[in-house]
Amino acid sequence: MCIFTHFAAGALAGSFSPAAALAPLLGLGSHVILDVIPHYDFESMKLEIVLGLAALAVLLGGGVFGFAVIAGGLFGVLPDLENLLFKKGVIREDQKIFPGHRGFIPHGRRAGHANLGLQLAASAAALVFIVWRSH
Ligand SMILES: [Zn+2]
Repeated sequence: MCIFTHFAAGALAGSFSPAAALAPLLGLGSHVILDVIPHYDFESMKLEIVLGLAALAVLLGGGVFGFAVIAGGLFGVLPDLENLLFKKGVIREDQKIFPGHRGFIPHGRRAGHANLGLQLAASAAALVFIVWRSH
């Protein structure tokens, strides 16, 4: 799943956290769920990182999201750091630790480009829903 989608889903999960301290756990859980669902992943790491940073800017720069939402979003995307390190050749496949990346939990099959639109729409909807719910 795209980084921005992991941010949005983690933030959404964090927004439902009964206690702020549990938000990171919910963010990590959202990552597992999203990696299992069939999805489109970018070929271009640059575009993926740019869109991910844009999502991060919205999350941090908006000033409307609380700790649990931000923590959920950050931990929702955190596991993909090892994918980035793997793609950059810093770590080997067998050095990945996240269950969804090691094959303990099956990774969702590849979806076509249309799935990217779905991820963008769902991510935007998730952020709008979080803002709407907090007011
Ligand atoms: Zn992942």
